Amino acid sequence: MTAQLLQGQRALVTGGNSGIGEAIVQALADAGAAVVVNFLSGEEDAKRIAAGIEANGGRAVPVQADVSKPDDCKRLFDAADKQLGGIDIVVANAGIQRDAAFTEMSLEQWREVIDVNLTGQFLCAQNAVRRFRKQGLDQHRSAALGKVIFTSSVHQVIPWAGHANYAAAKGGLKLLMESMAQELASEKIRVNAIAPGAIKTDINRDAWESKGAREDLLQLIPYGRVGEPEDVANVAVWLASDQSDYVVGTTVFVDGGMRLYPAFREGG
Ligand code: NAD
Repeated sequence: MTAQLLQGQRALVTGGNSGIGEAIVQALADAGAAVVVNFLSGEEDAKRIAAGIEANGGRAVPVQADVSKPDDCKRLFDAADKQLGGIDIVVANAGIQRDAAFTEMSLEQWREVIDVNLTGQFLCAQNAVRRFRKQGLDQHRSAALGKVIFTSSVHQVIPWAGHANYAAAKGGLKLLMESMAQELASEKIRVNAIAPGAIKTDINRDAWESKGAREDLLQLIPYGRVGEPEDVANVAVWLASDQSDYVVGTTVFVDGGMRLYPAFREGG
């Protein structure tokens, strides 16, 4: 049943060559979608992922692009048009961290994170919506004209000392997502976000790889385990599918309860 959920749909995942993006690419392909696997660097990984999908009878195309650059974004969507014949699902997932104490944070660190995590997501979403409109609705593919899914973070609501640039970008993303959803819903374009908590990927390896760091991290997670990329990918498939057709402008937290003020478990 799940294998048919996204049959005939075309998807694009930014930062699709590692971590959460890679798991989303795989899950969308398993659900029947053809997928553009965007990468910035790490071409070998993107090629390996795409080849694995194609070997299983799916369709996947690796495309290099820097999502913070308008021309690259346009080229990325042109590639989706050319290679997959259009686009139905966009997962704006690429993101980085450049951590520093507030007074030590350089303008470059600030700008880099805003450019990729907020402006990059804006550029991808804008390209996506323009293409959805041009294509028009095909109800044989999906009840929606198109779906945009942002990979946000629990830090769209949880302040994060030492990561002001990252929290500012994700907080901005929350209202970008909600404003877009409000503006575009009448056209049957669904815009939603996934807010992961701590998921085991390269971006936060320091926080989960050693036993000591992992124990500290688990104090923040009521459900008692660090998340896996697949925990996020399963939600992305659902948000991309018609099963969530009435879900508009929502953030789905995939965080084992991290945003529930776990320090108050003992009564505060
Ligand atoms: P990751 O480092 O494995 O993946 C990030 C991806 O983004 C990489 O593929 C990287 O190449 C790509 N990327 C970076 N800059 C880019 C650019 N300019 N253009 C195109 N691609 C670019 O880490 P991840 O954990 O898989 O992160 C994916 C998303 O999930 C990010 O938006 C991150 O903020 C978010 N997130 C992760 C966690 C977590 O615990 N891992 C928690 C909350 C949110």
